[in-house]
Amino acid sequence: METPKTLLQAIQLFTDEQVCVDAVAAMRWPDGPLCPYCMGEDRKNPYYLATQKRWKCRSCRRQFSVKVGTIFEDSPIPLQKWLPALWMLVNDKNGVSSYEIHRSLGVSQKSAWFMLHRLRLVLKNKNIFKLGGNDAGPVEVDETFIGGQKRNMHADKKVRYEARGGASGKTVVMGLLDRELRQVRAKVIPNVKRETLQNEVLREVRHGSKVYTDEATGYDNLHSRFVHDVVNHSERYVDGQVHTNGIENFWSLLKRTLKGTYVAVEPFHLERYIDEQIFRFNNGKTKDNPLNDSDRFVAALAQVTGRRLTFKELTGKTGSEAAF
Ligand SMILES: [Zn+2]
Repeated sequence: METPKTLLQAIQLFTDEQVCVDAVAAMRWPDGPLCPYCMGEDRKNPYYLATQKRWKCRSCRRQFSVKVGTIFEDSPIPLQKWLPALWMLVNDKNGVSSYEIHRSLGVSQKSAWFMLHRLRLVLKNKNIFKLGGNDAGPVEVDETFIGGQKRNMHADKKVRYEARGGASGKTVVMGLLDRELRQVRAKVIPNVKRETLQNEVLREVRHGSKVYTDEATGYDNLHSRFVHDVVNHSERYVDGQVHTNGIENFWSLLKRTLKGTYVAVEPFHLERYIDEQIFRFNNGKTKDNPLNDSDRFVAALAQVTGRRLTFKELTGKTGSEAAF
């Protein structure tokens, strides 16, 4: 696949629909196009109908586009707009607003808002392994509180918000950082009870790992399964390795994005913005792993298959998403 190096190149390259189709096809079918509808013998060898940019299966005779079975399925918005939008979302340090997508790519602001939410689903990490390990680096664990202003919400939003367990008008977000892998996991949690916090650590971190937490929180049973050290804030500079500065840095990046770019994020949608920030952080450039804008785009494009987001899932309401 020909990969652009800059946003300008991405926009220029992806003005050609065939280039877009080839780019998505190369990511989802590295061994050549495959019928998504059947398990027939000839599903591996479909005809390409070049004028329609669709394939026709020799087994089941059905036609399919490259969008079928991806996050782009059913969207009337062309790939020529989806791919630059994805480029902007993964490479703009502080995220990209629906107004910027609206102005840059010529879609309505409302469509841009839905596009960005679908693309955030692409960025969601499928955490298949646990962090840390006996011989691995430490895992920093911390929580932060986002938002507020519950008083101004409409009644139905309030109900949804409370269902997510907002405490004292704020949403609780918990995060873990594997310092050696430089990989963050973070999610909205219902409360900061000991059981909630410790279950998350048990779920995400290998037994025997070094775990660093704040002193003020409910992590006091972790020593039975982990090598648990507590940050002593009054002696931060003496502690050396024992700190949570890495995950705190992630929180400041997340808050900068939320405040600067997205302004009014409903708690209901917060987790998707967190996923977006995690993707950029985990695919950021490091000394050992010099990822660039192209690499981040390709990594995201590799995740477009097998993900769907309906209008109802997105908004909590029923309706048609046909316009997006
Ligand atoms: Zn088929």
